[in-house]
Amino acid sequence: MDIVLVTADNDLSASLVDTISGWGYRVNVARSSDVALKILQRSGAPVLAIIDEKIDKMTGLDMIRCLRRRSGAPYQYLILLGKSEKKEDLLLSLHFGADEYISKPIDVLILKMQLHVARRIMSQQIRAQLVQEELWNQANMDLLTGIPNRRAVLKNLERSAMLCSQCEQPIGILMIDLDHFKMINDNFGHDGGDLVLKEASQRMQSCIRTSDTIGRFGGEEFLAIIPNGAVKELLRVAERIREAIANEPVVTDDFVIPVTCSIGVAVRWDNTDGTIEETIQRADKALYVAKEMGRNKVISAWSLHNRSRLSV
Ligand code: GH3
Ligand code: MG
Ligand code: MG
Repeated sequence: MDIVLVTADNDLSASLVDTISGWGYRVNVARSSDVALKILQRSGAPVLAIIDEKIDKMTGLDMIRCLRRRSGAPYQYLILLGKSEKKEDLLLSLHFGADEYISKPIDVLILKMQLHVARRIMSQQIRAQLVQEELWNQANMDLLTGIPNRRAVLKNLERSAMLCSQCEQPIGILMIDLDHFKMINDNFGHDGGDLVLKEASQRMQSCIRTSDTIGRFGGEEFLAIIPNGAVKELLRVAERIREAIANEPVVTDDFVIPVTCSIGVAVRWDNTDGTIEETIQRADKALYVAKEMGRNKVISAWSLHNRSRLSV
């Protein structure tokens, strides 16, 4: 386990580094508060730190308060080294966020015990964090394709729609459905179909910006959310996805599988433009027309609207 030792005292750091390294920890010494904060605040920072009460213009207690103020940061076990023997000072340091207070001169046996406890607590903490991440993945990611599942897409859509309407920006939706997928299963087996779903998901994802989202909405149906997209941009993304699927067959160890998809595109312009569920329905209708017109096509909901107006 990595430990950050924060102290400007060279004698103290020399003796502690030797002792603590001897117990199997990797010790990283920070001799100023700036360096210490940089190390302790970066992502993947060590979860254990021993902080001297006197560093520079910033005290050890100030540093602990500063580290504890960050919301959402992973928990770090912080041990404060101080001179005081008074119980009030110890209590104050715990109140401001220290997990332990060790008085100088340091009793190495006490330090060893404290680090032992710290290591056990932080290992549990890291394990709990991994379980939490796994649960989050199971709840939000599609197991087969590794992209967001229907629940995550709908949550994201709700949030994006709210942000777009607050900024008076349109939000675009692409409803994408693989063509004749039942036939792919029939011809190449369910495993062949699964490989197509995985490969298609990757290709679709490579066609969107990081601010866009694409998720698996149902069996062989996907939904892309394109916030702030101008109409031309939406159609360009849809066309890019259609081409990415149709231009290259999916190649497995045993088969070469030609795949195409149909895409319905709809936009919610602003708050006067109905609910986001109605936008999904418009994209769905456009997708249906793309299927009827022979598949492997991009159809926009607004082109249907104009067409029905022209035919009246
Ligand atoms: P269309 O062009 O009209 O969309 O026809 P289609 O055959 O793609 O649509 P249909 O709804 O008739 O069939 C979809 C098929 O997708 C049926 C279902 O068994 C299959 N499917 C759904 N989920 C999965 C999956 O996770 N893996 C595999 N291999 N197949 C799936
Ligand atoms: Mg289909
Ligand atoms: Mg379908």
